[in-house]
Formats: sequence, C-alpha cells, structure tokens
Amino acid sequence: MPIQPSRTVVELRQLQQLTGDENGAQRVAWTETWAQAQEWLAGKLAGLPLEAVTDEAGNRWWTLRGRSERAVLLGGHIDSVPNGGWLDGCLNVLAAVEVLRRIVEEGEPAVTVRLVNWADEEGARFGRSLFGSSAAAGSMRDQEELRKLTDRDGIALPDALAAHGVDLDRALEAGKQLDTAAAYLELHIEQGPVLEALELPLGAVLGTFGVERHRITWRGQAAHAGSTPMAERRDALAGAAKLALEIREIARATGDGAVCTSGGVVCRPGIVTSVVETAEQLLDQRHLDAGKLASMLAAAKEAAARFAQEERIEVAWERIWNIEPILFHPQLVDFCDEAVREVAGASHRLPSGPLHDAAEVARAGVPTVMMFVQSLRGLSHTKLEDTREEHLELAVAALDRLASKTIAWVADHA
Ligand SMILES: [Zn+2]
Repeated sequence: MPIQPSRTVVELRQLQQLTGDENGAQRVAWTETWAQAQEWLAGKLAGLPLEAVTDEAGNRWWTLRGRSERAVLLGGHIDSVPNGGWLDGCLNVLAAVEVLRRIVEEGEPAVTVRLVNWADEEGARFGRSLFGSSAAAGSMRDQEELRKLTDRDGIALPDALAAHGVDLDRALEAGKQLDTAAAYLELHIEQGPVLEALELPLGAVLGTFGVERHRITWRGQAAHAGSTPMAERRDALAGAAKLALEIREIARATGDGAVCTSGGVVCRPGIVTSVVETAEQLLDQRHLDAGKLASMLAAAKEAAARFAQEERIEVAWERIWNIEPILFHPQLVDFCDEAVREVAGASHRLPSGPLHDAAEVARAGVPTVMMFVQSLRGLSHTKLEDTREEHLELAVAALDRLASKTIAWVADHA
C-alpha cells in the first residue's frame, strides 16, 4: 500500500488534542506531557516489526532491520516550547512514521531504516537546546555547565533527567547509536517566510548558518545636555547608531542570504539630560559561507573603528558565541531537490537560519539533509504556527521519495 499523507495530518491533530491546550502545544521535554506524547508515539509504532530502544541521552529509536546493517535515519523531535505550535518537531517524526509504514509493507529493505525521536531539541526548560542530538553526536562538552542548570522552580537538570531514566554522566554513550548511520534525513517546517514568498510548498536545505555574536562597547564622555555644544561631544550612542545602519549595507553587499542584526543597545547613564557615556551594543551576523561570514565580521570591525575615530570615542569588541556554518551533503541535497520536484513540480534551495538536530548529526560526519515545508506568515514557536494541510501532505510524499532515493544510494555504497 502506498503512503497515506492525510493520515499524518490526522495524527498531528490527535497529538495537538492530547498534549496541547488553548495556548498551544505543551510538550516541554522532561515533563509529564512530553512523556505522554512519547507513549502515544510508541503506541503508533507498536504494531510494526521494529526494535525499540531508548539510548543513554533519552533519545528513542525504532529500528527496521534491512539486508545491510548500514542505516538510513529519519529524525525529529516531539518536544515543543511552552505554548508552541502544532508542527515544529512532531511533523518530522510523524511523517517519518508514515514512511516507515510504507517501507515495512514492502518487506525487508536493502539497508536498515531507523526512526529517532531526539530528546529535548528545544531546550525550553533548562535553556540548553539540542540535548539528545549533541550527546549522540559527541559535541556535548559542557556537562559541568549542564549539571548546574536549574529550571524556574529550582529543579536541577540532572534530577529532571533522572526522573525520566536518564543519567547525565552517561549521556555521551548515546554516540554508539550513530556507529552504523549512513545517512540522516529530517523534514521540518521552515519557520521563516522565504518559501511562502516564492509560493513554493517545499525546499531543499543547504545547511545551517554560521553565526558570529559580539558585544560591542562604545565609550565616550557623559556631559550636560544643555551646556555641551554639539561639536564638543563624545557621544557613545553615535557610534552604535552608525554601526546599526552600516550592518544593513554590509549584509546587502555580502548577499546570498546574509543577515546582520543589532539586537539591542544599552546606554549609560541613560538619562534625558546627558550625552551617552557608554553604549553596549549586541551584534549577530549569519552566513552559510564561512569566508563570507568572516569578511562580514571584518567589515563591521573596520566600520566600527572608523566611526570611533569620527566620533572621538573608543570601541571594544567581545565575542559572545560563534558556530561555523554546517553544510549538508551535496548528493543528499540533490536527492532532496529531485524528490521535491517530483511531488511539487518546483523546488528551491535555501539555508536554515535556526539550528536543528540535523546540524549536530552532520557535524558528527553523517551525510545529512533537511527538507523544509512552507510556514504560513513565517511564524513558529507560537500557537499561530501553521502550514496548509495540502502542503503537509506534499511534504510527507516528498520525504518518502527522498527516503527511497537515499536507501538505494546507501545500498549501492554499502
Ligand atoms: Zn524544531
């Protein structure tokens, strides 16, 4: 029997009924509602000939043995943010369930196929995203920091994990789950406005943006707003203001999806009667190309030095956080593009602004690709998150095609 994409939409609505309320989805990881969603998911898979295991990081795996041990993984996350949408994460999992049903129906596959439901992608309770996938990928290197995290009620992360059978000290042992992984596929809502603007239901994701985050401190001189002539001022805010406008030009000149954001400026003394003495500015720059990201940062620093000179103020840079761009596998991106064209007629290749579990798997060296389905109004992490049902059905059909192409490819290379 072919796949039934409409069944996925029905199941998404069921999950929403079961684990959402009038404010949206409430499947926050390491809570009762999340555990309930996991049991519901296990029930959906119970009738299929799959081996189920939970790994040391709390990720749930269902394995359909094939003629080869080499495995194609289909992944997603059933956890949500508080008051979340009905699609983020769980669409990926439920579409993969439908694909698995089809593969089971056709008999033993050429390679092993595994569904993974990653634990705590959102990091909504403890502020640490990609918990399960970073443990499996081996990039979780902050266990001492994790140990100290507490939620709003003062409950420590290790205690919350223990209540769900997970021992933080053993989480990295989840890495052995990737030993046989030959490819990783993940469908996700776009969570942005690009596909909707292009009037396309689906796209192939090239990779996740590299990010540079900096705090820029401008220092001038506080002076009386009434007695200090304009030409005598050393106004720290003037430097921040010039840079906030300049980064638009830097992003425009760089192109290829470049984005730069000055997310905030805090001024001191911050009173109406004084010139600003210090302005602390936040800068976030993103690009899919590491070289272009580096040159955007260099351009911002060069401009900042020029503005400091013009305004006779000082400027200092401090890096808050950075991550390199993570590119998906070229062959799998091509397969994804083909699969999308086959079901939707046209495709588009686009980068992902947000990070995803797929980025962790790709960093671990597993050939990876993501497929995006259009998000209405670009909204996500809110109950207003939505995608047309016909687009969801196309997404399930396209993921199924992508899975078939990938299984054949892995079988050829096994
Ligand atoms: Zn997600």
